[in-house]
Amino acid sequence: MTDSEYMQQALSLAKRAKGVTSPNPCVGAVVVKDGIIVGQGYHRKAGGPHAEVEALDDAGSNAAGATLYVTLEPCHHFGKTPPCTHKIVGSNIKKVVVGCKDPNPFVGGGGMRFLEENGIEVVSGILEEEAKTLIEDFIWYVGNDKKPFVILKAASTLDGRTATRTGDSKWITGSASRAFVHQIRHETDAILIGSGTLHSDNPSLTARIEGVETRDPARIILDTHLTIKEKRPGPDPGIQGPNHYCHPHPCPTGKKSPS
Ligand SMILES: [Zn+2]
Repeated sequence: MTDSEYMQQALSLAKRAKGVTSPNPCVGAVVVKDGIIVGQGYHRKAGGPHAEVEALDDAGSNAAGATLYVTLEPCHHFGKTPPCTHKIVGSNIKKVVVGCKDPNPFVGGGGMRFLEENGIEVVSGILEEEAKTLIEDFIWYVGNDKKPFVILKAASTLDGRTATRTGDSKWITGSASRAFVHQIRHETDAILIGSGTLHSDNPSLTARIEGVETRDPARIILDTHLTIKEKRPGPDPGIQGPNHYCHPHPCPTGKKSPS
């Protein structure tokens, strides 16, 4: 197998946790020795082991003299976990192949330089575009003063309308596009609608994917005129993910908005 093929495997591993590692990016890693994958792993959630640690632990003593393929430059700072660079050096890895450089200006990078200074051969830019696309939300977030990466989702008919002539808006899309919507919900931290959508459609805004333990986004509802009554059922309060009701004025009754 080629460098690109091993990196493709690392990218596939990273995708397993796409959207559920927030605020961290999803990352995958593969350890290869003598043409055989001897270890692999991915970052499963924030606060948990990074992909490199998972893969190196999976490889055990086979990591010595092996090549590590990782979709993102290994971290070189103390966060919730120690720097992966130290773990890589300690595992006697011979070569590290990186998908894309760490875009995070808040931690300063330096991972690849540290590895090279410790005698490890480093190659970067393998499947770089794929690696960047996979974490485009993270790249935007850290590169734009922590502004959120926003996705506009709109379903429309071929003539550009959002409902049929009879007002039916529920089934103007197909099963493939509806499945895609649930994938987006699963991969995002929050979903925002206006109160008009709540009143007309009362959507659950949950992520439902067969065979996948999904994560529901927090629900944000813009309600300029305080039209949502406290007892309105709205999105089911029993499902995971909080509801946030946003309006520009204090409540006239002095009460807090339902939350
Ligand atoms: Zn790390």
